[in-house]
Amino acid sequence: MMQLSVPLNFIGFIYREIRQGLTDIEQMFDLLDVDQEVLDKPGALPLAVEAARVEFRDVHFAYDQNRQILKGISFEVPAGKTVAIVGPSGAGKSTISRLLFRFYDIQRGAILIDGQDLRDVQQESLRSAIGMVPQDTVLFNDTISYNIRYGRMSATEDEVRTAAELAQVADFIERLPDGYKAMVGERGLKLSGGEKQRVAIARTILKAPPILILDEATSALDSHTEQEIQAALDLVSRDRTTIVIAHRLSTVVGADEIIVLKDGVIAERGRHAELLAQAGLYASMWDRQREASEAEERLRAAREED
Ligand code: ADP
Ligand code: MG
Repeated sequence: MMQLSVPLNFIGFIYREIRQGLTDIEQMFDLLDVDQEVLDKPGALPLAVEAARVEFRDVHFAYDQNRQILKGISFEVPAGKTVAIVGPSGAGKSTISRLLFRFYDIQRGAILIDGQDLRDVQQESLRSAIGMVPQDTVLFNDTISYNIRYGRMSATEDEVRTAAELAQVADFIERLPDGYKAMVGERGLKLSGGEKQRVAIARTILKAPPILILDEATSALDSHTEQEIQAALDLVSRDRTTIVIAHRLSTVVGADEIIVLKDGVIAERGRHAELLAQAGLYASMWDRQREASEAEERLRAAREED
């Protein structure tokens, strides 16, 4: 047992914060050597990823007993396909991504990767099979090069550059006075939401995980920046089993299946055109967003005329 110089409840606090943010969790565990609340079961084997098919089977989940968050969710992401999850804020979308990492155990049902229940596999192997581009990326107080290489520490300088180019952040980096050696993070250069997200994409390109979760940023990006980033995201997710948590519906039009989550249940599901034809919740969300982005366009055009 290691000696702790910080109070345990403080570590608990940090642990919960990280688990909530899903960022850089592996390194924080290394740093703190904290006991995890979810433990490997004795004799757990490493996850054997083959096709990388993901399945949620009648998943029920609550953070605390008084309030069910997911009430019987079933869906499948076939190998290499993309499933989008949309729905109002608080519906439980990010919770689904936390459960796929097994940051919490579910109360009923099962989550499987290539037929293996997450509770039966070693967590380390599970987490190394999944890449996450989070809603809000936290950068390390280190160089931008380190922050990208974190995806795969053995990557060469050339590979880091290629990943940065693919993530469309290379031009930005090369314009910095110290280039790839520029210090970023809390004590270094402050990057915008879009720049940080592209660093996270570059990191994920290097990691090249078989399963990918994209929790799209909401407030961090305007729709123009989002279009630029979309190309980079399409590239990482190509031929990879992908779950996209989407706030802007324009990014889910091409998904193999769209799941509309509301109050912890699947309210609607189907492809974009099918959902529009149903004229239900998805269709009304689509109309609302189109009006908003048209208004944004008109504002931009007006500003450019001035
Ligand atoms: P979404 O991503 O769809 O906006 P979340 O999955 O983040 O929603 O959250 C679903 C619900 O679970 C919300 O009501 C949120 O307040 C609640 N929630 C999220 N994290 C926790 C937690 N650690 N403890 C208790 N409730 C939580
Ligand atoms: Mg969320």
